[in-house]
Amino acid sequence: PAPPPARHLFSDPAEIDALRRNLLAWYDRCKRDLPWRTLAAAEPDADRRGYAVWVSEIMLQQTQVATVIDYYTRWMQKWPTLQALAQASLEEVNQLWAGLGYYSRGKRLQEAARKVVSELAGQMPRTAEDLRELLPGVGRYTAGAIASISYGQATGVVDGNVIRVLCRLRCIGADSSSPAVIDRLWDMANVLVDRSRPGDFNQALMELGATVCVPKSPLCRECPVKQHCQAWRRKLFGKALPVPDVEDCGVGDCPLCPPATEPWDSSLGVTNFPRKAAKKPPRALRTATCVLERRGCHGAPEYLIVQRPSSGLLAGLWEFPSLPLAQGLQEEKEREELADHLQAWMGQPVAAAGLQFIGEVTHIFSHIHQTYVVYSLHLDGDVTLDPALSPSRWVTQDEFQASAVPTAMKKV
Ligand code: SF4
Repeated sequence: PAPPPARHLFSDPAEIDALRRNLLAWYDRCKRDLPWRTLAAAEPDADRRGYAVWVSEIMLQQTQVATVIDYYTRWMQKWPTLQALAQASLEEVNQLWAGLGYYSRGKRLQEAARKVVSELAGQMPRTAEDLRELLPGVGRYTAGAIASISYGQATGVVDGNVIRVLCRLRCIGADSSSPAVIDRLWDMANVLVDRSRPGDFNQALMELGATVCVPKSPLCRECPVKQHCQAWRRKLFGKALPVPDVEDCGVGDCPLCPPATEPWDSSLGVTNFPRKAAKKPPRALRTATCVLERRGCHGAPEYLIVQRPSSGLLAGLWEFPSLPLAQGLQEEKEREELADHLQAWMGQPVAAAGLQFIGEVTHIFSHIHQTYVVYSLHLDGDVTLDPALSPSRWVTQDEFQASAVPTAMKKV
C-alpha cells in the first residue's frame, strides 16, 4: 500500500521533542496514584517489578481502573511473586478473580507464571518481542507495556486510550479498528516514545486518554499537547493548520482520512475522531437455571453449585445447574427441559410443576446478551448426585459468595 500522507504522521524532530517534553511534564504533575505504579516504582528487583506490572496490565484489560484497584491489592498480597503465583491452585485464582470478568485472563496469568518458573528459571523475559513470544496471554500491547515500564525498553504501546489520542492528534478518521490503521498507530507510537523515559511516556499517553482526552467531552483547553493536535486546530480554525487541510486527503484515496461518505461533522468537534465501523449487536441467549435448596445438617439452607467445563465462556467457574435454551420455547417447554436436566443430576424424577419460577436476570457479557430464567426447587429428602457428571457441591450462602462464581450467578 502507498505510504500515508505525511500530514497524518509525526516527522518533525522538533515537534516530537516538544510533545514528549510537554506530555512528561504534565504526567509528573498530574498522574494518578495507583497501587501498581507505587509498587513498580519502589521495587528494585527487575523480575518482581515486571511481575507487578504484568498483573496490573492483565487485570486492566477491558476493566476500569477503579474496579481493578481492590483486586490488584488483594492479589499482590496473596501472591507477591511469580513463584508464589506458580504454586497457587486454579481454584484459588478463580476465587480471587470472581467478579472481575473475562476469567481466562487469571488462568492464563497463572499458566504463564508456572512457565516462567519451570522453563525460564524464574526470570521474566526482558524485551517486548520475548515477552510476547514466550508468555501465554501476553499480546503486543501487554508486552510493550511490561518491557517499557519495567525494563526501560524504548518501545511504544497502543491501547484504546492511545488510539483515541493519536487519532485526534493526527485527524485519523478511517476505521480505527482496521489492521491498516492499527499498524500506522503502532508505527507512530514507536516513533513518539521517549527514549530516556519510555515507561513514563507510555503511561502518560494512556493517562491523557483516560483523564483528559476522554471519549466524550474531552478537556482540550487543559490538554498539555493541544498545540500538537490537528483535531483541536480543526475545531478552532475550521482547518488543520499549518499542514495543508487534512480534509483534502479524503478527496483522494487517503487510507487514514474519514471515508468520503462521513465527512467532518462540526457539531462533534474533536470527537469526530476516532471512528469505528459499527459493532455487531451482541448475541441474545437464554439459559434456564435452578436454585436447588436443601436444609443442611445445622438447619441452614444450602444450595447446589456445579462446575462449568474447563474451556469456553466462564471456564472452570461454579454456577447453579443451568441449561441453555433454544430461542422461542414456550414457558411450559422450558420448564420441562429444565426438569429433565435436573433429573439427570439427581437420579430421581423431578416434576416440572414443582419448579417455582422466580424471575429473569439479564447479564451482558462482551458479545452476549444473556437472560437467565430463574427457578427454585426445595428438596426434602437427601439427594445422591451422579458422580459421573461435572463436579458439584452444596454450599451455604456465605460459602457461595466466597466461591469462584461469576457475577451473573451472584445476580441470580
Ligand atoms: Fe485530545 Fe483535545 Fe488534547 Fe487533542 S487537544 S489530544 S483532542 S484533549
